[in-house]
Amino acid sequence: MLPLPHQPLQVAAVPSQRVPAREDEGGPWHTEAVCRRDEAGLFFAPSKEPTAARLAREEAAKRVCARCPVMVECREHALLQPEPYGVWGGLTAAERRVVLARRRRRDVELKKAATAGQQIAAAG
Ligand code: SF4
Repeated sequence: MLPLPHQPLQVAAVPSQRVPAREDEGGPWHTEAVCRRDEAGLFFAPSKEPTAARLAREEAAKRVCARCPVMVECREHALLQPEPYGVWGGLTAAERRVVLARRRRRDVELKKAATAGQQIAAAG
């Protein structure tokens, strides 16, 4: 298995990674990752990192992600795993939790709407 773009430097427990493929090119997306070439230490927090340092590091990591050609693929990978640590696809772990919560709420609303539509059709 190929290594993922950036690997945690000081995070002790990171789950094993699945390497997704880019459907449009038939190859692994992470071979194009900008963070494979530089700045890998930006993406994961060292232990006991002060808040101000964390915020600055995360913003620097996001600037790297902003110029990465596989940001969308990376972000979806991190959301689907889900990756619990680090910046992936321009999102911190906390930001990914928010996105996932929104998606869960959206899915619930869509199911409710589909059920209501079926009931209306059945009553029709
Ligand atoms: S989007 Fe960011 S974390 Fe993802 S591969 Fe690109 S540089 Fe790395």
